[in-house]
Amino acid sequence: MANVLIVEDEKAISDLILMNLRLVGHEGRQVFDGNEVSEVLREFQPDLVLLDVMLPYKDGFSLMEQKIFDGIPVIFLTAKDSVIDKVKGLKLGADDYIVKPFETVELLARVEAVLRRAKPTERYISIDNVSIHFDKREVTLNNKTVDLTNREFELLEVLINNRNIALSRDKLLDLAWGYDYFGDTRTVDVHITKLRKKLEFENRIKTIFKLGYRLEV
Ligand code: CA
Repeated sequence: MANVLIVEDEKAISDLILMNLRLVGHEGRQVFDGNEVSEVLREFQPDLVLLDVMLPYKDGFSLMEQKIFDGIPVIFLTAKDSVIDKVKGLKLGADDYIVKPFETVELLARVEAVLRRAKPTERYISIDNVSIHFDKREVTLNNKTVDLTNREFELLEVLINNRNIALSRDKLLDLAWGYDYFGDTRTVDVHITKLRKKLEFENRIKTIFKLGYRLEV
């Protein structure tokens, strides 16, 4: 679980980010303009900042220049797909940037990646009688090792990183098999069936009619 400071003046976008972060187990605090940030930082210690560039009163670049996020990883949210913005954000010390509009899975993947880099503690999760050690790529059920193929493990990792979010078969193929994989979406079904059986996740991995799957935790 991470505490995320969301600095974004468009309420709909900010609410959407907060909702999705909460779905995967994080917490967030919303700030809607540039002036409010330093005040909030006095009583809220975030593990990560999502920082919009265009903000009322003080823009994201100025906030970075003030170095008020000292030591806290920052991901810029930039509306423009402008190279100059990205380069400027990264030069100012941001860890990553996301171009708006973005997909939920992309947001969550970048958040996880930056958090992992910032805090290289062992990533571990347990669901029912299943324990998953991501770094060792080790999965146990009732304390007994479960043999997963690399692909099954990657699929499981994608489902966990996006838990409680419905993912289409195409999205799962992109994320677990890679964008250059031209496979049949039935491949996904086959692997899901194996994961359900191996992990006793029949009630955890839900089939979403006409779409794909969702891991419910
Ligand atoms: Ca804005």
